[in-house]
Amino acid sequence: MNLRDIREDFPILSQPMNGKRLVYLDSAATSQKPLPVIERIARYYREENANVHRGVYALAAKATDAYEGAREKVARFIGAASADEIVFTRGTTESLNLVASSLGGRLVSEGDEIVITPMEHHSNLIPWQQLAIANGTTLKYISLQKDGTLDLADVEETITDRTKIVAVAHISNVLGTINPVREIAAIAHRHGAVMVVDGAQSVPHQPVDVKELDCDFLAFSGHKMCGPTGIGVLYGKRRWLSEMEPIYYGGEMIEVVERYRSTWKESPWRFEGGTPNIAGAVGLGAAVDYLTEIGMDAIQGREQELIRLAMERLEEIPELEIYGPDAGHRAGLVTFNLKGVHPHDVATVLDAEGVAIRAGHHCAQPLMRELGAAATARASFYFYNTEEDVDALVAALMKAKEFFT
Ligand code: PLP
Repeated sequence: MNLRDIREDFPILSQPMNGKRLVYLDSAATSQKPLPVIERIARYYREENANVHRGVYALAAKATDAYEGAREKVARFIGAASADEIVFTRGTTESLNLVASSLGGRLVSEGDEIVITPMEHHSNLIPWQQLAIANGTTLKYISLQKDGTLDLADVEETITDRTKIVAVAHISNVLGTINPVREIAAIAHRHGAVMVVDGAQSVPHQPVDVKELDCDFLAFSGHKMCGPTGIGVLYGKRRWLSEMEPIYYGGEMIEVVERYRSTWKESPWRFEGGTPNIAGAVGLGAAVDYLTEIGMDAIQGREQELIRLAMERLEEIPELEIYGPDAGHRAGLVTFNLKGVHPHDVATVLDAEGVAIRAGHHCAQPLMRELGAAATARASFYFYNTEEDVDALVAALMKAKEFFT
């Protein structure tokens, strides 16, 4: 990987911040965007803009081709059987809500179970919580081990013949834990349950193949993988999508509309009511091309180098409490607290040094409670980060330590 060339693709990274070099360590919240993506979106608006699926004129056909072409790129990127298994949404949150709203109510009733983990982001927790409340269904948690991983023996015990839905993050946005979703999917399927994977933190960072995982649904967001905000994906096995009802009714998603009844298009289009985020999808297609050209194996390898180095360096600071598994079992992010100092204060000192990290509950309040922390700080890496970024993080943390302790 030629890092110099790669960093030049991200103009924002050479922008000074607070008079310092910007050290962007918040890619788990949103990634930066490379020039090919920025330029592709601009080219769409400059040369191809029209509404999709409707016009008979050449420009509308061009816009439709760009939009549907992006769907095909995304399908190939995650190993889907075909492009019609890809629904464009606003992001992971909308994708998960779509499954819960459209399919959830049909799958669960009183006495049934939905199984999740304590490390879920709120967007893979609240839709299931609401579904459980509305249907008298039990929400069950696979327990979290001390090291922040799941135990497959406990997964076996928690999922039963009453379980109808299992929803698990592929990678935790707080602990960095890489969960064994393929093994969990196999257990879920043995009990006839549907497997939903929150891929928000995995699809951008490692090769993900839905056939290999054998999940029924996979949700992820464009903005965390070099694409624009406001566009995301719900992958669903065709057998599920084709029998699911739309949740947004209106233009674009209909087949025939009569005065008192209507019929819908095939999936995935029946789920995309209204004018979609065309430029967003086109931008996501460009992001997929960009990541593919670098190679997802190379991206994962690079992030592994960075997280190993970061963990090694951070573990040398005794005042730091680090959460989650060891470097060998985690993705490229690390969550920590400087003992006795609020993470917002830590993040503020780091910001003055140009180091951008996240502090808060990371949309995972039940997990924070389990960790015994009101909030934590998190540094997250992407392939455009460098060893110097790790140095800058450590140096800024030492400053924060000196300042507060
Ligand atoms: N799931 C996980 C694991 C995440 O990290 C995030 C975002 O931080 C989401 C879901 C929600 O993604 P979005 O806000 O793009 O819908």
